Amino acid sequence: MELMDYTAQYKSKTPESARLFARSAELHAGGISHNIRFFEPYPFVSRRAYGKSLEDVDGNRYADYWMGHWSLILGHAPASVSRALESQVRDGWMHGTVNEQTLKLSDTISGAVPAAEKIRYTASGTEATAYAVRLARAYTKRKVIAKIDGGWHGYGSDLLKAVNWPFDAAESGGLVGEDAVVSIPYNDLAGSLEILARHRDDLAGVIIEPLLGNRCTPADTDYLRGIQEFAHSAGALFMLDEIVTGFRLRFGCLYETMGLDPDIITLGKIIGGGLAVGAFCGKDHIMRLAGMPEKGSQRAYVGGGTFSASPVSMTAGYETLRDLRSGAAYSKMGSLGEMVRRGLHRAFDGRAAVTGAGSLFMVHFGRDGHRIAEAADASKSDMALLRRYHFKMIAVDGIFLLPGKMGALSTAHTAADADALVQASQKFAQEMPQHRTGNAF
Ligand code: PLP
Repeated sequence: MELMDYTAQYKSKTPESARLFARSAELHAGGISHNIRFFEPYPFVSRRAYGKSLEDVDGNRYADYWMGHWSLILGHAPASVSRALESQVRDGWMHGTVNEQTLKLSDTISGAVPAAEKIRYTASGTEATAYAVRLARAYTKRKVIAKIDGGWHGYGSDLLKAVNWPFDAAESGGLVGEDAVVSIPYNDLAGSLEILARHRDDLAGVIIEPLLGNRCTPADTDYLRGIQEFAHSAGALFMLDEIVTGFRLRFGCLYETMGLDPDIITLGKIIGGGLAVGAFCGKDHIMRLAGMPEKGSQRAYVGGGTFSASPVSMTAGYETLRDLRSGAAYSKMGSLGEMVRRGLHRAFDGRAAVTGAGSLFMVHFGRDGHRIAEAADASKSDMALLRRYHFKMIAVDGIFLLPGKMGALSTAHTAADADALVQASQKFAQEMPQHRTGNAF
């Protein structure tokens, strides 16, 4: 049985989105302001968002599992954050000074993330990881940074390498000095150490996510410990990018649950409650280079920037973390996440792999010739089929996952939502071509 094409159905329910996106394409490069936001035939244009829902300009409502690039853990426009923001707006949204709202958020973060001995905010995760790289190079006086195959750390020039399959093809024109960044295979300690050993004497740092956001795949603890041990024995920094995982899976970072001791951690998304934020933080003796006033080879001259630590983003982050502090939200989302992952596993009945943790989940389809169990590996996974599955749910079921990306639950989602997602997935599974599963086992 051939997969049905839901394009006509999508177009018939999104005429106003079609009209506005055509205008958007005239005004913006590619019609978008972030490459991943485009999907065929055109992305719907949103008008408002509340709770678990996103509404488009045609009045269609979607149960949202993209949740603002996974930055919204309390759902859209939660009352507590809205109230605090309304009050903050009256008191000014951009001070451009040291402000007390920042201190409140930082007190909360440093209480929950012991390695965050010093913090600096940025306006995005991209900046945070770019500055972490510069800090590592300044501290070690070395050049090479290692990252993971498939690891996404934002659009910064240094780390825009080996993000999408095939990993050895350049991600972009306009990059220079790419030889100063090497990539290593995720969860393959022997393979990674072999590459790292070749750069031992010039290795400034390794940057890794404890859960690979691009593939929704948790790292093995032993893998991360092995990389950390190598980095430290080589005199390099061990840096964890917890922009997705920080405060997503527990109140704090994931590294503590793995017995790790990172030198630098990058944060973003949830700590800004859905407003523009990024942060890099870490050990005092390293972070102090970012605070050095004098020009010199030791100083790591990094931002901030104009919009760093704005009172509104700090307030949204602080109020969000306040709601999360008791831990109840994590257990609720964890159970719901388990329900979703189990349900999806059942829905695809061995024809897809399901990965995730806590409130995060992702389905992977093995490519012909590969086992489903290997499908979380980008090179062995059928991304086109994944995008079709997500698109079908947008067109037919009123469920929104950004096509090709992992899903995130929020405290606004319920068991009924989880059930609807599983049922929609089951319907898709029923129309999946059989031949794809023929060699899956
Ligand atoms: N690091 C990770 C792990 C991310 O997932 C992202 C964004 O998705 C970034 C860095 C970049 O953050 P931003 O999009 O805020 O620049």
